[in-house]
Amino acid sequence: MAQAIEDFDVVIVGGGIVGLSAACVLAPIVGRIALVNKIPAPEWSAESDYSLRVSAINLASQKLLTEIGIWDEIQQMRCTPYHDMVVWQGLADAEVHFSANMTRHHSLGTIVENTVLLQALSQRVQTLANVSRYEPSSMQNFSELSDNSILIELEDQQGQSHRLTSRLLIGADGVHSKVRSCAGISAARQDYQQAGVVCTVIAEKAHQDTAWQCFTEQGPLALLPLAGKHCSIVWSLPTAQAEQMLALSDEEFNARLSMASEYRLGGLQIASKRVSFPLAGSQANEYVGRRVVLLGDAAHAIHPLAGLGLNLGLEDLVCLQQLIQASDRELGSERVLQCYQRARKTENSSMQQALEAIDKLFRQPQPWFRSLRSLGFSASNRCKPIKMAFMRRALGVPL
Ligand SMILES: Cc1cc2nc3c(=O)[nH]c(=O)nc-3n(C[C@H](O)[C@H](O)[C@H](O)COP(=O)(O)OP(=O)(O)OC[C@H]3O[C@@H](n4cnc5c(N)ncnc54)[C@H](O)[C@@H]3O)c2cc1C
Repeated sequence: MAQAIEDFDVVIVGGGIVGLSAACVLAPIVGRIALVNKIPAPEWSAESDYSLRVSAINLASQKLLTEIGIWDEIQQMRCTPYHDMVVWQGLADAEVHFSANMTRHHSLGTIVENTVLLQALSQRVQTLANVSRYEPSSMQNFSELSDNSILIELEDQQGQSHRLTSRLLIGADGVHSKVRSCAGISAARQDYQQAGVVCTVIAEKAHQDTAWQCFTEQGPLALLPLAGKHCSIVWSLPTAQAEQMLALSDEEFNARLSMASEYRLGGLQIASKRVSFPLAGSQANEYVGRRVVLLGDAAHAIHPLAGLGLNLGLEDLVCLQQLIQASDRELGSERVLQCYQRARKTENSSMQQALEAIDKLFRQPQPWFRSLRSLGFSASNRCKPIKMAFMRRALGVPL
């Protein structure tokens, strides 16, 4: 028997933080939406240990999550706002201190576990009458059906196929995006030959609700504040060194990590397992195709040193939402999609290039590079306009 085809206005492929947010943001302004996701998110509970993947959510993303109606819930679940950020150069006496006191905001951002974000978003999606979920289900292919409609093929966990039509297909399916490859869009990939070692630690000293980041010549080390004296660690290292860090005993790892952080928070004690993620940049050559648009990591992936990857993905979404609204809800038109590409591609690729340049600059071991960096840090710390410009970009809102 021929499979029935279901018709939608928008099909979103990918149920990560960006895809789920897209369903929430678009539900009030478009008709029927399908959300297709391959792997359901792990469940979060208040009794669970901290999940290893956390995100520094900036104020622009916080605003979006407030509009979606889940920010209060996230605050009740588990998260830690940070009021200050201290960035320093390892083995040198130079640092830049950013503070919410320099702005009219109470914090610079909030550290939230990815599982908390996924659960709060997923529960919100469940309340949306015009969103149908296909999960676990994976998009296999799509093709053009007519000038204003595409046909999308899915396969569920039992191997059953489903066919959907849509006026707009959103690819929010991560860095290895199937939507991107099926649309014939290539991506420039930059292997950083580094891996991010992530874990949770307990620090000897209070973290003072501050995000700490040390630029070492092996790569940046971030200590992100969680409740009490817990911190989430993101330590970017050359791949072989990252592997060594995973193989060390807890005692040896504690010693190496505490030393790399220059004991800013005293000794650090591991409080979780350690895992690592390969670090690579990626930039899609086009962000749009015919009736197709890429959001989040499907369009761009950047170095985690500034904690901005997800925030940029949510900025993509806000841009798309505004364009759809301004075009009187014209979905998938060439005009709207080209405006989206113009607005987001240059912005995201400039950020990627800037972060790659910073990462390279800080990993140069020559003494004169170290002196140059120290000068840069001291000058930036003294120069309020430079600090304000950095903060404006990182927070994503007027100061
Ligand atoms: C170590 C590390 C630390 C980071 N820290 C920060 C931070 O502090 N702040 C920040 O802003 N960013 C941070 N980032 C970046 C951030 O994690 C990513 O940018 C973000 O998670 C991307 O979200 P996404 O929804 O676009 O993609 P993903 O999270 O990759 O979600 C993609 C979804 O698509 C689904 N999918 C894939 N293929 C298919 C298919 N064919 N059919 C159906 N579904 C499919 C998957 O199941 C998944 O649910 C960090 C990254 C790393 C590696």
